[in-house]
Amino acid sequence: MTQFAKRVQAIDISGIRKMFEGAGPDAINMGLGQPDFDTPENIKAAAVAALAAGKTGYTNNAGIDELREAVAAKLSRENNVPCEAKNVIITAGGSGALNIAIQSLIEDGEKVVFNDPGFVSYGALTTLAGGMPCPVRLGSDLHLDVEALKEQFSDPKTKVFVLNNPANPTGMVESPETVRAVVESAADSGVTVISDEVYEKFCYGDAKFVSAAVFGDNVITINATSKTYAMTGWRIGFLAASEEIIHEVVKVQQYTLACPTSIAQYAALAAYTGPQDSVAAMKAEYEERRDLLIAGLSAMGIPVNRPDGAFYAFPQIPADTVQKIVDAGVIITPGTAFGSAGAGYARMSYATSQENIKEALARMAKVVR
Ligand code: PLP
Repeated sequence: MTQFAKRVQAIDISGIRKMFEGAGPDAINMGLGQPDFDTPENIKAAAVAALAAGKTGYTNNAGIDELREAVAAKLSRENNVPCEAKNVIITAGGSGALNIAIQSLIEDGEKVVFNDPGFVSYGALTTLAGGMPCPVRLGSDLHLDVEALKEQFSDPKTKVFVLNNPANPTGMVESPETVRAVVESAADSGVTVISDEVYEKFCYGDAKFVSAAVFGDNVITINATSKTYAMTGWRIGFLAASEEIIHEVVKVQQYTLACPTSIAQYAALAAYTGPQDSVAAMKAEYEERRDLLIAGLSAMGIPVNRPDGAFYAFPQIPADTVQKIVDAGVIITPGTAFGSAGAGYARMSYATSQENIKEALARMAKVVR
């Protein structure tokens, strides 16, 4: 029998996938964190043009210069994070960026702090890097518990805090004051913040997004084309940080990936430098869907905090009811797939049509009644 590495055996396949296994063929899928929109035409055209022009070879390990420049310009202009191309590495999606960051920073036994419930990759990537995942419960309002985080930062074993704002699975957006407080407390304790900003563009109503790097130079910024431009399958993201950090993470990328896909990088260049109206249109549609879903859940008497960002709602639904809802043909994810503090909750993705949301609510109403 093959003996596998303990750090691989210590992690499991994400609980999100498991929910699909029992669902029927006409089930409505509210389980996936994937936009249901197609990639905008100008972006697809740029990939076709790159292909036709024979841009099919390896690129620099850190990505093509034009894209690194475009990302640096975006961060400087939109995010108030002064940045040059040398501060940017193009990665295989947000996932690739998270991986090379954690691999580069974490020594055996060092702690990575993140919110619980939180995105499934943070703990698994930490374990794969030999580190110790340290989930910290969100407050009862599903926002960060700054005092609990500070306590963890003061542990000398804590090396990294992963901030995810807007957050998966809760859809919460942290205020600029909270972001500042966590970045500054992390800095005081010598903790590096990895700021996962993949849902940056999806903040609704009065919710204001702010990049964590505005508040300190102990921040590594991660983002991706995946959610913003409906490009999950293209696998392009980026990491922005000091030159010193880029120098190290490039080594990990060089030996694990060589470079992100060449033609997808040209597509991403069109995404960041081309018209942004498709992003605004997707955001407007998500916001309508959110309102529809939250109104429907509330009408059923299901307690839910109104999410201001991403495309998830995180209502309070006990595990046995989650199973009944899945059996009734609506795939949702139990909150425990995102950490033990998710018990009693479920994640519902509204990256699906309003028609589907209405039908899902009708099916759920029968179960809840
Ligand atoms: N970070 C968060 C919070 C996510 O929800 C996801 C995907 O669901 C990712 C990162 C990974 O993004 P990508 O598809 O670009 O690897």
